[in-house]
Amino acid sequence: MRYYCSNLILILHLIKMLTDIHTHLYHFTNTEIKNIIDKSLARGIQRIITCVHNRNTLIKTIPILKEYKNVYISIGVHPQVAFVETKEYGEFILIMEKTIDAAVAVGEIGYDNYPGNPPLESQKKAFIKQIEMVKQKDLPLIIHCRKAFDELFQDMQKSEKVILHSYSGGFKYLDIAIKKDFYISFSGTLTFKRSRRLKKIASLIPLNRILCETDTPFIPPETEPVSLQSKPEHLDLVFQSLVEAREEEEEEIKEALMNNVSSLFDFKRIDRNREKWIKLLEDSLKELRY
Ligand SMILES: [Zn+2]
Repeated sequence: MRYYCSNLILILHLIKMLTDIHTHLYHFTNTEIKNIIDKSLARGIQRIITCVHNRNTLIKTIPILKEYKNVYISIGVHPQVAFVETKEYGEFILIMEKTIDAAVAVGEIGYDNYPGNPPLESQKKAFIKQIEMVKQKDLPLIIHCRKAFDELFQDMQKSEKVILHSYSGGFKYLDIAIKKDFYISFSGTLTFKRSRRLKKIASLIPLNRILCETDTPFIPPETEPVSLQSKPEHLDLVFQSLVEAREEEEEEIKEALMNNVSSLFDFKRIDRNREKWIKLLEDSLKELRY
């Protein structure tokens, strides 16, 4: 009986597991990644989506995909590197066109209006190009947007598969995002005591449009020293902050997050033929000769 009970608890634990929808695992060494995966699973994180934004980050990510079957890739030119006149940009767009089916999402793409980033016109060209590229695909878009929500909303129509990752648009853009049916994802920022406005925002979003992420290795949660990196194992701290911000019960919120993730990402399509998709990624690198 005791055996039966512990198995049942294990099964329930496995069923109710979360997905970290946004990370950058290429920042870590092999040993660190092994630790990250082990600790994440122990803390109830079932799957991890990791982003790549250029040839180098793709090269570093392929071995991770080979080793860990619960890691999935998202591909996209990040607005901070969207210099459309460069050889690197042209090269990566070609890689994307060849490999997009190996990904569970496109991103992070969007706008970043901070000094030192590519001009907004260049970011816009890259953004539109990538949206066009995936129009016929059933892939969600993971959007990075800082201080450029007007530009973003001009380009983005109402959609069922758009994720505003690590949302920073405040109350000002919340109504538009909700009207457009966009998903809103919260990262470590939600755990900060001073993030009262963000917690209020988290309480106002329809439950079927909320997501959680860590943006690993960025934005460590409140409990970690600022100098440290975030890891997917911190996802449960983001989740707990979300639970504190909202009125519903913890289980209801967890279930909603799981439903939201499964209506956005088709993990099974990748699982069915994982080796084929990894080979597609590897071949795309071999084919490019410049
Ligand atoms: Zn990111």
